[in-house]
Amino acid sequence: MILLDGKKLSKTIKEEIKLEVDEIRNQGGNIPHLAAVIVGDNPASESYVKNKAKSSDEVGFESTIIKKDANISEEELLEIVDGLNRNDDVDGFIVQLPLPRHIDPDNIILAIDPKKDVDGFHPFNFGSMAQNLEAYLPATPYGILLMLERYNVETEGKSVVVLGRSNIVGSPISILLARRGNPGNATVTIAHSKTENLDELLQSADIIVAAIGRAKFIKNHQIKEGAVIIDVGINSIEDATRKRGYRLVGDVDFDDVKDKVSHITPVPGGVGPMTVTALLLNTLKASKNK
Ligand code: NDP
Repeated sequence: MILLDGKKLSKTIKEEIKLEVDEIRNQGGNIPHLAAVIVGDNPASESYVKNKAKSSDEVGFESTIIKKDANISEEELLEIVDGLNRNDDVDGFIVQLPLPRHIDPDNIILAIDPKKDVDGFHPFNFGSMAQNLEAYLPATPYGILLMLERYNVETEGKSVVVLGRSNIVGSPISILLARRGNPGNATVTIAHSKTENLDELLQSADIIVAAIGRAKFIKNHQIKEGAVIIDVGINSIEDATRKRGYRLVGDVDFDDVKDKVSHITPVPGGVGPMTVTALLLNTLKASKNK
């Protein structure tokens, strides 16, 4: 079994980005600047945003975090987005999701200038991606593509089952893997909560991308020998042996499947770090495109 080590790979790619940024700095060029807006006190969101800022610093980017109270109005948040759109110093920015219930995330995403949409969530970028045109790819699917590419996992002609159809993971990764290209050229099936023959689909899949947010949902008997497993899920389960009382697991039961698979991403340390690295690559691209 080959462990698709996202932590190690993202370290390598971040070193490559840093070399490029050093070169830009030496030539007096534009240093990439990533901004993140965070609303409220969601601990998971705070940790993601801190992680993104830390990674930005590691590669020599400039980074800014804008933190707002949960009671900010949608109009006020839209003004912040507008300010970032107009700010020439900022190359790309993200608005960390989820947002408080009174704010419609679609309105916020639509307000982001697609040229600065380094999360790749704006419909302009989604549509461009679907048509295989130049686009900022959504960070998690982009991170998965990088991982498949760098580990030389063949996707052409393979049968892929993507479990989950969200706008940020399941839906875009299914489009990307079915697109002409490498990675790509796969035959993709999207499964979701209404899918009836899930076991049958999973058992026939050469590659499974699991993105449903259900702890250890996929078990040994549901996969075929030699399958490639990309586990996007991040679920916290109680664990009295840990100081904090919980630990993170994926949507796939890692210990149950590990001797049957050919490749698998761990959770944590798989897709998560690759997502942040993909965001940095998008920011570097936005900065160069300016
Ligand atoms: P969403 O909640 O937006 O979507 C979940 C999807 O899973 C839906 O399409 C839903 O189906 C489907 N689903 C839920 N339960 C089942 C089931 N029992 N059988 C089949 N399908 C099911 O999730 P996200 O895409 O935002 O995230 C998925 C997971 O990935 C989460 O654990 C999240 O934390 C993690 N994540 C990890 C990232 C990383 O960087 N590693 C980044 C983003 C997310 P339906 O549409 O029918 O409701």
